[in-house]
Amino acid sequence: MTLSKTIIYCDHNATSPSSKDHLAAVFDVLPGVLGNPSSPHSLGRAASVALTTARRQVARALGVDVSEVIFTSGATEANNMATFGVLGREPGSHAVSTAIEHPSLHQPLSVFEHQSGQAVTFVKPDRQGVVAARDVLRSLEPQTRYLAIMAANNEVGSLQPVGLIGDFLAYQRWGVVGATPRDILLDLESCLAPAVTKDVLGQLHFHVDAVQAFGKLPVAQWLSLGVDSCAVSGHKLGALPGVGVLFLRRGRKLRSVLHGGAQERNRRPGTENLAGIVSMGLICQDMESTAWWPAWETVNALRRQLHQALSLIPGIVLTSALDQTLPNTVHFYIDTNNSFGVNAEDLLLFFDLEGICASSGAACSSGANKPSAVLLAMGFDAQQAQNTIRLSLGKSTTLQDVERLVSCVKRYLIK
Ligand code: PMP
Repeated sequence: MTLSKTIIYCDHNATSPSSKDHLAAVFDVLPGVLGNPSSPHSLGRAASVALTTARRQVARALGVDVSEVIFTSGATEANNMATFGVLGREPGSHAVSTAIEHPSLHQPLSVFEHQSGQAVTFVKPDRQGVVAARDVLRSLEPQTRYLAIMAANNEVGSLQPVGLIGDFLAYQRWGVVGATPRDILLDLESCLAPAVTKDVLGQLHFHVDAVQAFGKLPVAQWLSLGVDSCAVSGHKLGALPGVGVLFLRRGRKLRSVLHGGAQERNRRPGTENLAGIVSMGLICQDMESTAWWPAWETVNALRRQLHQALSLIPGIVLTSALDQTLPNTVHFYIDTNNSFGVNAEDLLLFFDLEGICASSGAACSSGANKPSAVLLAMGFDAQQAQNTIRLSLGKSTTLQDVERLVSCVKRYLIK
C-alpha cells in the first residue's frame, strides 16, 4: 500500500511500534542465542544466558527480584494467570475489581463468577474514570481473597490509586509506611468493615494490571510491599509483540493454569519466546538511560497541547482529564447534536485517509461498534459511549503531528 502522506501514528496504547534502532539492537543479539534455553548444549546455554540477562533487565525496571519475574506471552496471559491462579486455589472466595478493567481481567473474573456462583464486586469510577481507594476498601469482605485493579485505563488514560492501596495493605499487614503518609493510611482504616481484619488483609492477593502505566510513569515506586502481582506487556513499550511479564511476589502462590513444562520455575510452562524476551529486556534497559523519562515529559507537553486545542472545537467533548491521566492519552466523544451529523466512525475513516492512525478506544473492541463499557461505567449514555475516539501519543510524536491532527479535526468538524 502506498500512502501519499506520512503516517501520523496515534495508537500507541494499542501497540507502540518498535523503532528501527530497537529492531537493530534485537537482531544484533539474536543470531548467536536462538537455541532452546532448556537444552544443555552450547546454543542452549547461550539462549539461557540471554534469558537471564533479559530477566535481570526487566527486574531492574520493575524494581523487583529476578526470581519474581515470570515471562508470558503478554499481559492477557499474565492477567489470566493471576486471576485463575488465585481464585482457582480459593473457589468459594469473593473478589473485588473495577468496572473499567481491560477484558483480559474483566472476562476471567466473569468466568469465575459464572463457574463458582460467587459474586465479584466491580467498583464504579467517577465521571473522570477514576476509582476511589475508599470505595475499593469499602467493598472488601471477610471472604475477599483477590483484588485486581489496573494502574491506568487503556481507553481514557485515567490513573487509579494502586500505589495508595498497596501502601495501605503493606501498613495493615506489616506496619510498614511506604510513600503514603501515615495519617492518610490511618484515615483509610475507617473504610474497612469491622470483620475485615488484618488477618483477612494478609490473605488478600492484590494484583495490578500496569500495562498502560509501565514505562510511562514510575510503576516501580507503586509496587510497594502491598502489591502481590503485576502484569506488563512488551508491545505497549516498543518491544516486539507476544511477550509480557507477570511479577509475582516471592512467597505468593498461584495455581498453575498451564501444565506441561518446567520453564519459569514451573510457573509458566512452554518454550520461551526468546526474541520477544530479548526485545523486552532491551527496552527495560533503555528505561535506565537519561533520555527515557525526559522524552515522556515532552510527550506529556504535546498531549496537553492537543487536549487544549481539541477542547476548543465544537462537537468535541473531552472525557480524559488533564491531570491524573497518562502522559500520552487524549480521549473524547463526538456530540452528534453539535457536529453536523458527523460521528466517530466517520472521523476515524477520514483520519485513515489522511494517514492518521487512531482508534475508537480499546483496540480489541474497535470495529465492534459497541458502546464502550468504560464510558458507560463513567456515567455517559450509550450514544456518547459509542462515539468515542482515543488518540494515544508516543515518543515518536512531534509538534507537527499534533498540529496536523488538530487541523484535520477542524477541517472535518467545522464545515
Ligand atoms: N491490560 C491493559 C490495560 C491493556 O491495555 C492491554 C492491551 N490492550 C492488556 C491488558 C493486554 O495486553 P496484551 O496485548 O499484552 O495481551
